[in-house]
Amino acid sequence: MKKIVVFILICAVLFACTGCENKVQETVYAMDTVMDLQIWGADSQEGIEKVKSLLKELEDDWSTTKPDSIIGQLNRGTLSEFNPKQQWVLDEVLKLSLRTGGSFDPNLRSVVAAWGFYGQDYRVPSDDELQQALGQDQWDLGGVIKGYAGQEAVEWLQTLDIDRAILNLGGNVQTLGNKPDGSAWQIGIQNPKGGDPVGIVSVYGTAAVVTSGDYQRYFEKDGVRYHHIIDPQTGKPADSGLSSVTVICNDGMKADAFSTALFVMGLERASDFWRQSGDFEAVFILSDGTVYATEGAALSGCEYEVISREK
Ligand code: ADP
Ligand code: MG
Repeated sequence: MKKIVVFILICAVLFACTGCENKVQETVYAMDTVMDLQIWGADSQEGIEKVKSLLKELEDDWSTTKPDSIIGQLNRGTLSEFNPKQQWVLDEVLKLSLRTGGSFDPNLRSVVAAWGFYGQDYRVPSDDELQQALGQDQWDLGGVIKGYAGQEAVEWLQTLDIDRAILNLGGNVQTLGNKPDGSAWQIGIQNPKGGDPVGIVSVYGTAAVVTSGDYQRYFEKDGVRYHHIIDPQTGKPADSGLSSVTVICNDGMKADAFSTALFVMGLERASDFWRQSGDFEAVFILSDGTVYATEGAALSGCEYEVISREK
């Protein structure tokens, strides 16, 4: 009897500790965007500091606009050697590009620059200028680096024995472990037209939920909206009938590359791409506001059309 009472007491204490687990939350600005970091556990403050320095390091390494970054040096042709990690990143990016049939294209720097997206001195380039820019293979990992950063961050947190976190890196959400009460993380999908989220995606455990949308970075000229997701075939903002694509995947870099690529593909091609794959789910918001989701996407809070494996 005594043993049972002791056992129940231990369980109660353990349960209470999970509930009052130390949590640190901080908002930081990095990689040109606002980021929200929430980390649980005894070492959560150390975890936050680690994530902040990692974000800074990755920004310094992979920035498209910093001249001394790996990308800056690559584009000037002054970098001849990479460390193994850097080589791994570039290899992965090229594999992801290949898998998307080039819809994710890491060499669009000249095109993105021609539209003025880097310094926000926006302009509409001529077709000739775009063709010329498409011919210049200049690196830009802007479409993948926040997803990669989320993935790296949770790997680092695990080395500190932190097993619970949610990082919102400017619309790229990365979770680690389960919520304190064991329920699913609830991640809102932004309404491209503003206001309340369109719906909620539920994920358990460690996952990346990454959105690419035409509302994230754009300018308007003569009543036309020009956004920052480029169709590598034309060099122009992808005109695929989509307003946003959210990808849910256990790999942050893949989720980020695919959210950009699926946006370029449009609903039909992206649905076929998903049918041929087995490693992600997706939610699509069309320009008219209609929502579609692949059958494993665990979307709630809105009406939507289900994309099934069988066509
Ligand atoms: P965000 O960076 O706003 O989260 P994305 O992940 O979709 O959005 O990345 C868009 C960025 O990626 C652009 O700002 C540009 O630097 C780059 N980019 C644009 N089009 C493509 C493309 N088709 N493939 C790869 N990168 C792209
Ligand atoms: Mg992306």
